[in-house]
Amino acid sequence: MLQDFGQANPENSNIYYFSVDKYDYATKELKEAGEGKFCPFCNTRIEYEYYQYSHIGKFRCPNCNYGDNKIYKLATDVDLKNRTFKVNDITYKVRSNSIYNIYNFTAVISCVSLYSIDTKIIQNALSKFILNNGRLEEVEIRGIPTIINLAKNPTGSNVSLRILNEDDDEKELLFVLNDNMADGFDVSWIWDINFDNLNNVSRIVTSGTRAYDIAIRIKTAGFDPEKIEPYLDLHEAVEALYKTNIKKYVIANYTSLQPTRRELGL
Ligand SMILES: [Zn+2]
Repeated sequence: MLQDFGQANPENSNIYYFSVDKYDYATKELKEAGEGKFCPFCNTRIEYEYYQYSHIGKFRCPNCNYGDNKIYKLATDVDLKNRTFKVNDITYKVRSNSIYNIYNFTAVISCVSLYSIDTKIIQNALSKFILNNGRLEEVEIRGIPTIINLAKNPTGSNVSLRILNEDDDEKELLFVLNDNMADGFDVSWIWDINFDNLNNVSRIVTSGTRAYDIAIRIKTAGFDPEKIEPYLDLHEAVEALYKTNIKKYVIANYTSLQPTRRELGL
């Protein structure tokens, strides 16, 4: 955890902490694979007030107070539907609807505030910042809204599925999983992805060199196997995906991202 650096230098007055207030989909219990269950300084089990995603949330060590920091900038009123949040009562409108990007934006606001950059400049910059190249890329393909996200590990995949689950619209998912050298040959991490209770997903197409592994993983989570379609061939997978005009979510791992984007015509 990044704040370990701060804790390791307690006399340094140049360390500033930022945080994000509890948002609508925060949970009391950990629902996803998470790290850091024990205090890195005294090994006591950490107590969480809430989890935002994975192991990110409000916590403290009951023994040594690790995690109980003075917060320099706190994002509040996070509204992912309208894509707004506040810091010091100033509203920021952004293009992204993921909680982890609210953390990134709050980090940016903290940094630039220390350089006394005018709030209007920050508001303006954040309102125009668009993620692309498979980082929650929002595009229209064949006239159908499509959201593409790279996911290289359980946390990235769970954040992608979190955004999918926070969207009540009917949707179909394409999950492309490769096991090339850059991906790591071991794909057992897919068993740490939380595919339980997917919200209004009517069909899942899988592809990549491990199309069948990810299909089995999803089936094991309880998703209707009749609605899972594995294709080793990416072109066939994309054609199958776009045979309906339902909204699409695409999750691709490392080496599968660019071939998937090309197949989608991007
Ligand atoms: Zn501790």
